[in-house]
Amino acid sequence: MDISVIVPLFNEEESLPELHAWIKRVMDANGFSYEVIFVNDGSTDRSWQVIEELQATYPEVKGIKFRRNYGKSPALFCGFERAQGDVVITMDADLQDSPDEIPELRRMIVENGYDLVSGFKMNRRKGDPLSKTIPTKLFNATARLVSGIHNLHDFNCGLKAYRRDVVKNIEVYGEMHRYIPYLAKNAGFTKIGEKPVHHQARKFGKSKFMGWNRFVNGYLDLLSLWFLDSFGLKPMHVFGFIGTLMFLIGLVAAVVVGANKIYCLAAGVPARLVTDSPYFYIALTMMILGTQLFVAGFLGELISRNSTERNKYQIEKEI
Ligand code: UDP
Ligand code: MG
Repeated sequence: MDISVIVPLFNEEESLPELHAWIKRVMDANGFSYEVIFVNDGSTDRSWQVIEELQATYPEVKGIKFRRNYGKSPALFCGFERAQGDVVITMDADLQDSPDEIPELRRMIVENGYDLVSGFKMNRRKGDPLSKTIPTKLFNATARLVSGIHNLHDFNCGLKAYRRDVVKNIEVYGEMHRYIPYLAKNAGFTKIGEKPVHHQARKFGKSKFMGWNRFVNGYLDLLSLWFLDSFGLKPMHVFGFIGTLMFLIGLVAAVVVGANKIYCLAAGVPARLVTDSPYFYIALTMMILGTQLFVAGFLGELISRNSTERNKYQIEKEI
């Protein structure tokens, strides 16, 4: 199979028939063998019925129905698991991403040897409110800096193409879909490219990602990815190091307090109360903090070795 198209969707009933017809038109015109995997992320509208109707007529349509809304990343993850095409394309369901881009995206993977090609929504400013564009620029600048992928302008574009190996070897969870190129890079897929793509305003429904809190979460996610990349397989190297350092500072402070007490006793001068000494507090805090960090390091080590439950989702139906 040449291409798998994966479409995560949450309440997009109006767009689906048009999107499918458009994808089909492009695929047929280019003679590609393909599948379209719609992942219904707990929609409360008629999206699933529409997918079932499409599936009844077109055998290349497949559907996964989540029992509840998990988010875009879990939807992509389950689509990735099932994809059979040599090239995997992800696109949003809202008709903002154009299927006309698929042949060129595929060509870049197959002929130019890219592992991942991300769309770049050049004309997006037209339709979007300021509350989306300014944070998006900031987001992309930070993501470029932290990930070291300097040639991407638009990490979060829903339209992307992947070599199949890539999607089978990365684990998208939580809200990590924003950083898929970084995940791919960490997995060792380094040929990452970009293609300017046409992008239009939403035709039906409204955006599912608004508000500023997604940027706070976005930065926290970026921080975890950076941490995982640097210390994921060796959390003890960071927690253990800081922990040991703090514990040692605490120990020295405790010795100072103790030595002072002994000295005073021996010299016959009245000993000060230990709690009068700043070293007492340093000893206390540092030793406690140090032990805590040490334990955190061990726990991190254990968890990172045993996290098999992270990507288990309730799937109600599959067609
Ligand atoms: N989406 C999803 N689960 C969610 C939220 C969104 O599958 O919990 C889908 C949504 O239906 C769309 C895509 O993710 O196909 C991108 O969402 P949206 O168009 O709302 O984001 P925007 O383009 O405004 O950034
Ligand atoms: Mg959209």
